[in-house]
Formats: sequence, C-alpha cells, structure tokens
Amino acid sequence: MATALITGLTGQDGGYLAEQLAADGHTVHGVVSPAHDPDGIPEHLRALGDALVVHEADLRDLDALTALVDEVAPDLLFNLGGMSSVAASWEDPVGTLDVNARPVLGLLEHLFRRSERGAAPTRFVQASSAEVFAGCGRTPIDESCPVDPVNPYGAAKALGHQAVGMYRQRGLHASSLVLFNHESPRRPVRFVTRKITAGVAAIAAGRADRLTLGNLAVHRDWGWAPDYTRAMVLAATAEAPDDYVVATGRAHSLFDLVEIAFGEVGITDWQRYVVSDAALVRPAEADVLVGDSTKLRTRLGWAPTVEFREIVAAMVAADVAALAED
Ligand code: NAP
Repeated sequence: MATALITGLTGQDGGYLAEQLAADGHTVHGVVSPAHDPDGIPEHLRALGDALVVHEADLRDLDALTALVDEVAPDLLFNLGGMSSVAASWEDPVGTLDVNARPVLGLLEHLFRRSERGAAPTRFVQASSAEVFAGCGRTPIDESCPVDPVNPYGAAKALGHQAVGMYRQRGLHASSLVLFNHESPRRPVRFVTRKITAGVAAIAAGRADRLTLGNLAVHRDWGWAPDYTRAMVLAATAEAPDDYVVATGRAHSLFDLVEIAFGEVGITDWQRYVVSDAALVRPAEADVLVGDSTKLRTRLGWAPTVEFREIVAAMVAADVAALAED
C-alpha cells in the first residue's frame, strides 16, 4: 500500500481522491492552506478518521511545501491545489501564476533532487486543464493539440503542464491530466454549474425568484468528478507516466444545463426566472471545449460512468435536500 500526498484536499476533487485512495487501503496525507478554517474541514474528510492526515501549507510557500514532501516522503503526489476559476484568474493574473504554476515547478524540481540523492521515488500527478489548449482551434482536443491558452488560468496551467513533460524527460514518473470540466454536488457555488443548480433549488423552494447568468451558448464537456479523480489514480499507478485528456467527448451548452436543472424541479417555463447579465460574460472564452480521451480509455481502461443529465439531476437533488434541511 502506498503513501499519498494530495494538495487541494478541501477542494471538490481533493475530497473524492482522498476517499478513493483511503478505500484502496493507501495512507493519505492532505494539504490545506493556512487560511483554511480548521473547523471547516468538510464532513466527508472527517469521516476518513485516522486514514487521513491533514497538514497545513501554503502552495506559494515552496520551503514549507518541500519540507512537507520530505516529512511525508510520499509514493504518490497529486497536485490538485490552486486557483481553479477562470473568471477569478482575470482578477489576479499574477497571483494565479504564483499558486498554479510556481508550486508545480517547485515540487517537480524538489522530487528530481530527492531522486538524485537516492530517496525513494515519488510519482507525480498534475491536475492540468482543458484551458491549456482552449485557443488551439481543434475539436475535440487531444494530447497532440498545440498548447494555446486564452486566459491567465490557462496560461498558468500551461506552464505547469509543460513542466511535467520536462521533468518526465529527466526521468520522473510525472503525468499531467488534462481535465475537462467535471462536476458534483461538492462543486463550490462560485462555479456556474453549481450556481445554476443551487439557484434552481432556491427558486423551487420559493426562496429566490431569479437566476442571473452570462453567456448560455458556451458548450463544455462536463463529467462526473469522482470519475476524474479515478483517472488520476490510474495515471499514478500506471507503469509509465504520460499526459492524458480526461473528458466524456460530449458537449452540452449551459442552456441545456439550465433546462435540465429546472426540469428536475418540474419548472418548464424557466426563461421567466433567468436574467442575462453581460458583466458575467467572460473575456476571451472558448465557445466550445470538448475532449478526446481515447488514449486514457485504451491505455488505462478508463471510462466515464455518469451521464450529463444524471450529473445535473444529482446536483439539483443535493441542493434541494440541503434547503429542505435548512
Ligand atoms: P477547488 O474545489 O477549487 O479546490 C482547490 C483547492 O486548492 C482548495 O482545496 C484550496 O484550499 C486549495 N488552494 C487554493 N489556494 C491554495 C494555496 N495558496 N495553498 C494551499 N492550497 C490552496 O478545485 P477542484 O475543482 O477540486 O479542482 C482540482 C484541480 O483540478 C485544480 O487545480 C483545478 O484547477 C483543476 N481542474 C479542475 C477542473 C474542474 O472542472 N473541477 C477542470 C480542470 C482542471 P482552500 O479552500 O483552503 O483555499
């Protein structure tokens, strides 16, 4: 059984990954930022009990991060932490680079030096993004597309993605997973998908009367988050490291998502609740992002298990249930 270290433990993916690794019998260590409220560790992480060891470290503090790697000496290191919102990256492009790119280089260089010193090897998995390729003009996107980010988030992820390739060339078992959008009831409400499902639940409960959104025409390839963290485990435990697109291969519009979400609560005339706000339309956004995960499917046997409609239904149901308990 391996020892795993996860950055971004408290995020959507960090929680699912910790649960999966613990269920597989691995020892799991997770990093939370010092800014995190100690009482705010989510219930699903508390439920892991002694199977999970929580550490505090800011990803921007490379000394603290590398000291933690030395302390834990993980067999597997999953770098999931970071600033995960494209919209927010426009508000702080330099800060986005600090948290999404510098730690990747810092961790990889540290693992390389450890390996040179003869330390037990650590396999590295980077949570990369479809946004690395957003401007490449090809659809669906696969691993051979040219790197072409169109926003600060994508640019920072591109640097991390390329660093993984560089250190793989230097002999590290380092893989970069090109994650397309993936969702769950644990998605924070600052993301449009969850904003929609939470907003629909509030409207159904009579607690809100409108949902303010930006461009409903954008198409994305939305998958189920636990499927994507399972892909991370497959990449980490594969014989050889590589880069993999993780995607369903199917595009849906935000318009589809809104319609399905309202349908789940029995509202068909949903247009009367949706207000359009041009301020929410992001600059330089790709209209369509769809991925081709053939490599991951054929080499590592991965497949998505939950359909788009089921994902939206699960999110709406969770939001409806949470409001009922409130
Ligand atoms: P998320 O829910 O936003 O979680 C991000 C995590 O990073 C949080 O636990 C946060 O901890 C941590 N973090 C942020 N700044 C930090 C800092 N300075 N020091 C330490 N920790 C810090 O993201 P996610 O949806 O789980 O995504 C996981 C990874 O996959 C991210 O890198 C994201 O960019 C990438 N990705 C996600 C998607 C998607 O659709 N979900 C798609 C493509 C790529 P605090 O709460 O303590 O700040």
